Amino acid sequence: MKDLRGRGNNVLHIGLDDVDSPDGMCTTFLGALLARRLAEAGYEFLDYPYLVRLNPNIPFKTRGNGSVSLHVRIGRDDLEAVEELVRSYIERLAERHGKTDATAVLVVGSTEPLYEVYKRALVELISPSAVRRLLKAVGARVVGGHKRGVVGAAASVGAYPLRSYTYELLLYRPLIIKERLRGLDDEVKELDRLLRPYIFANVDYAANRVLATPHGPDPVVAGIRSVNPLLLSALAPRLCEAWGALMAIIYKSNQATGQHLTLLKSVTDVRPYDSVVIRGRVASGPMVIRGGHVIFSLEDSTARMECAAYRETGYLARAARKLKRGDLIEVGGGVRVRKKGLTLNVEYLRVLRPLPSVELKNPLCPRCGRRMKSAGRGKGFKCPNCGYRERGLKKEVYFTPPLLEPGTYLQSPSAYRHLSPPREALGLRSIPAPPLPNLFLYPPVHKPFKISKR
Ligand code: ATP
Repeated sequence: MKDLRGRGNNVLHIGLDDVDSPDGMCTTFLGALLARRLAEAGYEFLDYPYLVRLNPNIPFKTRGNGSVSLHVRIGRDDLEAVEELVRSYIERLAERHGKTDATAVLVVGSTEPLYEVYKRALVELISPSAVRRLLKAVGARVVGGHKRGVVGAAASVGAYPLRSYTYELLLYRPLIIKERLRGLDDEVKELDRLLRPYIFANVDYAANRVLATPHGPDPVVAGIRSVNPLLLSALAPRLCEAWGALMAIIYKSNQATGQHLTLLKSVTDVRPYDSVVIRGRVASGPMVIRGGHVIFSLEDSTARMECAAYRETGYLARAARKLKRGDLIEVGGGVRVRKKGLTLNVEYLRVLRPLPSVELKNPLCPRCGRRMKSAGRGKGFKCPNCGYRERGLKKEVYFTPPLLEPGTYLQSPSAYRHLSPPREALGLRSIPAPPLPNLFLYPPVHKPFKISKR
């Protein structure tokens, strides 16, 4: 019998995507089952399993545009057996839904050729055929991947090794339970009050909304995010028991890193569905429209673009109301296609140089101190009180300080995208931890057993 325990020198990266649909399942759940199976078979993990979020503005995502990748050391002859295992998991577990395109890619060796796919998939809409060609060129094996699943699966491999990351503990219930309400609001709030900011993005107190529990028919009971994987390891058994979950996994993730808003473009280069940053002066607005949404336009040296800070963005929309024409700002967000053109849905606003308000007023009367009136074009000013007239007086210039201070204005927690850096975690740094399966999987993995070739 072949012993597979960490003997191999080859590095295998497995990327997964698009196994779920609005009716259920979740790519992270399949990733968790596969990670457990590989750990039980004794494979050595090179890093925690990855939950990689991609461009949140692409139109065909099911929920949070998440993909998963696993990174293990394998023996020279193991590739076939692992590929077969991945295929069988996908065949058994992926949702059968017209929209779903369950895909796995298996890449042996360096992930570097796929780094570009990851970087671009974070910020743009990219073509599956270009990704397919690249996968072929690097000799990757592809399971499924008939439509666009290859994009996310390849990008999640290309993300390895993640340089900027956080962690998420995901708790799961059995697949057959489809109840949408998780009924854990009080429990999540209590945990958040105890452990924030070491856990974050759990609750929006102002909106009285719990963010850590989903609302769909998927198997996720809750997801707790943190910069400290060991804290999450300690929480896993307690939360599984208290919140009725069967198993848990801790993913390393690019969530909360702001990596999707790193590409600065000129307005003319902005494309539909980009996640993008633009910089320029406020050219019109802000205008508050029905529903409390704030619309303004930003102009750089190339063109002008409409920007929208929706009411749901809370703090951000309130800050956007205070912008003034001429303020120099930077905004980051997602590009939507509307009938009249492209609009940037703003996710953050950075005020670079706010302009003071300038007001011109008639001078005060030098004789009685009352405000004077114009005496007619080119005739200077006259005092309505004492009748004093003077041709040589000039209007006075009054500066009122800007309403917005220079700095960054973020959305309220309810509007966070998975990739948005949450206010409460700003300044925290994630700590590294050894990728031991018993740290990232619960229940613990006991007996290694062999994956047989079928
Ligand atoms: P979940 O978060 O529950 O896993 P999801 O929101 O990730 O679901 P999917 O069902 O995986 O949604 O659908 C997203 C699809 O879009 C996948 O096929 C993925 O490969 C593809 N995709 C992801 N990012 C891009 C991108 N930047 N350009 C083109 N296609 C993309």
